[in-house]
Order: sequence, then structure tokens, then C-alpha cells
Amino acid sequence: MNPLRITPLERWIKDRIGLEPRSAFTRDDVRRFQLEKLRQILAYAVRRSPFYRRQLSSRVTAALSDFADFAEVPFTTAEDLARDPLEFLCVSQSDVARVVTLRSSGSTGQPKRIFFDPEDLERTVDFFQQGMSSLVYPGDRVLILMPGELPGSIGELLVQGLARMHVEGIVHGPVQNPEQAIDEILAHRPQCLVGIPVQVLSMVRHPRSERIPVGLIHSVLLSTDYVPAAIVADIQRTWGSRVYQHYGMTETGYGGGVECDAHDGYHLREADLLVEVVDPATGRALPDGVSGEVVVTTLTRRAMPLIRYRTGDQARFLPDYCPCGSMLRRLGKVLGRLTNGAALGPQARLKMAALDEALFAIPSVLNYQAELVPANGCSRLRITLYGDPCRLDDTVAQVQAALVGLPTVHEAVARGRLAIDPIRLTPENWFTTGAAKRTLIDRRQERSIA
Ligand SMILES: [Zn+2]
Repeated sequence: MNPLRITPLERWIKDRIGLEPRSAFTRDDVRRFQLEKLRQILAYAVRRSPFYRRQLSSRVTAALSDFADFAEVPFTTAEDLARDPLEFLCVSQSDVARVVTLRSSGSTGQPKRIFFDPEDLERTVDFFQQGMSSLVYPGDRVLILMPGELPGSIGELLVQGLARMHVEGIVHGPVQNPEQAIDEILAHRPQCLVGIPVQVLSMVRHPRSERIPVGLIHSVLLSTDYVPAAIVADIQRTWGSRVYQHYGMTETGYGGGVECDAHDGYHLREADLLVEVVDPATGRALPDGVSGEVVVTTLTRRAMPLIRYRTGDQARFLPDYCPCGSMLRRLGKVLGRLTNGAALGPQARLKMAALDEALFAIPSVLNYQAELVPANGCSRLRITLYGDPCRLDDTVAQVQAALVGLPTVHEAVARGRLAIDPIRLTPENWFTTGAAKRTLIDRRQERSIA
């Protein structure tokens, strides 16, 4: 007997496709459905969005015959979105139920704006309900450590999805103060937490965390940023929780894919999204198992469909079937953003994910900021550390050793390309604000502004 529960997304997607519960369900059914939805969304986007009318009409028609044809469709980039978001809008402004403005990390500085109509938000609520059904049971409470004040915000949609299975969602918001967030746990005694990895870590490593009885929090869902292995291990060990990871972004309508009980890759929201993995340099599709850039097409979005949107995230499709028994595809762990790192030589790139794995493996590290600054023809790596105040001396020595232990850093130091600044300490965790992703800050190209 398979001890793992099959992902609830399988039954949900089968239902969305319109198959009878007792009928067979294969990958071909999913592919046929996706191809039909692609034809519809391409025709819809060409008809309603000035951007896609320009971008697609000469090359693509609603008569798309197969996925090979679709691979010729041009990409949409974050820069396209930032240039003129209104050119993507396919419904009248009065039909827009929610607008999200995203600050760009790119050099243009232009924010992206993402629009949703009520139907788009409803599909997200539906996905949240299904995805969370692996984590909670009717009567449970979920403390949501994500923004949720505004109608249509991620936390508010999650509350709606949970309510549909008689689970109470309590919005706390991103964790600014771990002590306060722990007190919320003690007050509400939730069976589940939903939060941002490093923010949950700041709670689990806080001394006050000892007051949380082991076994109280059955499950934790981590989302929005790279998830270092040490964070998962600490939550499992300290609170005895099952840890699930979710992958999504505002552009996918927040939800994208979620782990099942096998905890090995995200099952995707395949009735609403077509996900591809392409070579970031050539744009060509990569075989399963090979890591590249995640490209997303929204199959059902009304206000602002995105066609072959380059997410900038790095991942691969897992080649085998999931141990849970589902035939749904699995996207392997997202390895962070392709741009979230910095070159330390012709072939050497220091990635934020590698720094996260190395530094969060040190139990007394609570958070840190990494910067690369210029220095007489080479670079300096500057780490500002927020750690357990009782163990700072040890922590600094461990961080230094961990940095040099990274092959990329080790080699760059040996070749004289990199120096490591003395570790700076900060008494305040001022790096974690809201739901923004943490990044490796590369100051080497910055011009001094008088
Ligand atoms: Zn599975």
C-alpha cells in the first residue's frame, strides 16, 4: 500500500478538465486540455490586448496545432510588463478587482503592475483550497504570516480558500517581530502556519519558540522565496511539523504549484498554467531533468493573460513519476532567481541560494545581508549578520569558515579576485521587510551619485 496520499491537485485538475471521477486520467488528457486552452487564450489575448495583438497576430493564430508550434511563440518579459502594463489589460478597468504593483529589481526601476478580475481571483481561491487540503483538516486554524489586509491580497484569498473547507485563516502579516508572532501562535494555537522561509526561521530559532509545544503546529507551508534545507530541518526538529513548499508569484495569480506528502517537487496548477523550462540563453525547451528558466503561460486568466512569460526563476522538471502516485508533472525545487547572484570570474558565479544554504546551516544565524563591493580591481564580499546575541563570537567564526568553504568563494579568493570583509554585526533584523525576496546586492557597477 502506498503510505503517501496522492496530491489533491490530481482530482481537482481532472474535475476541471471535465472528466468523470471514475474515468481514466492520463497525461494526454492534460495535454489535450492545455492545448485547447492555449488556442483560446491566444485568440483572446490577440483580440483584447494591444501588446499581444502586436506581438502575436502575424505569427500565431487560434489554429495552433501542437506544442511545437507554441514553442515558436515569442516570450513575454518582465520588461514588457513594466513598459506599459495597461497594454496587457484585456478587460475594462471597471472590471479590475485587484491591481498589484511590483517594484522591479531590474535596472529600469519601472514597477510592474498585475491586474486581476473577480474570476481570476476566484480561480486562485479555488487553488488555495485544493493546495491547502494536504496540510489542514476541517476545524483547524492557520496563522498566515503574509500580507492580507487588502481585498484580493494573498492572505485574504487564502482565508477565503480555507473557509471553504471549514478552516479558519488568521492573517498576521509578514513577521517583523518574531517574539510577537510567537505570541500569536500561543494565543491562537494554529495547526498550520503559512509564511516566508527566513521569517519563519527567525521564529523557530527565537528562544521564545520553546514555549510552543512540539506537535502543536502540524504543518508549515513556506512560500515566496528560496527555501534553504536548514530551515526545513529546523522547523521539523523544533516544532515537529511537516513542511511543504509552494511555488508561485503574483504573475501566476499567487498560486503556482505545491508539494504533496512526498515533499519532492511541486505539483503544478496545470489546468490554469502551462509551465515550460527553457535554456535561458537560447530560449529552447530543455529536456526533463535539466535545469533552466521557468516560463509560464496563464491558460485561464481574464484580466491579464501572460503568454510565455519568462519568470527569471531557475528549476527543472523531475523526470520520474511522483512517489505519491500522481501522473501530474513535478517541477523540482526552485533554485532561486537566475539573476540573484554575481559573477566572480569568467565561469564563476556566487549565488544567493548557495550563501543561504551555507549560512543558515549555522544554528545561530537568524538573517544576513550579502553585498559585493568594488575594491581596487577585485571584489569584496561584505556580510552583515543578525544572529543570536548570546553566541555572536562563535557565529562570526562559523560564518567566516562557511564562506571560505563555498567552492566559488574559495576559488575567487585564491585567484585574488575576491576578499572577504570582516563580518559586520547588526542588533536589528532590518533586512526582512514585507514579502520582498532577499537578494545578493551587487554594488560593483554602481556609479557614485553626488
Ligand atoms: Zn506527489
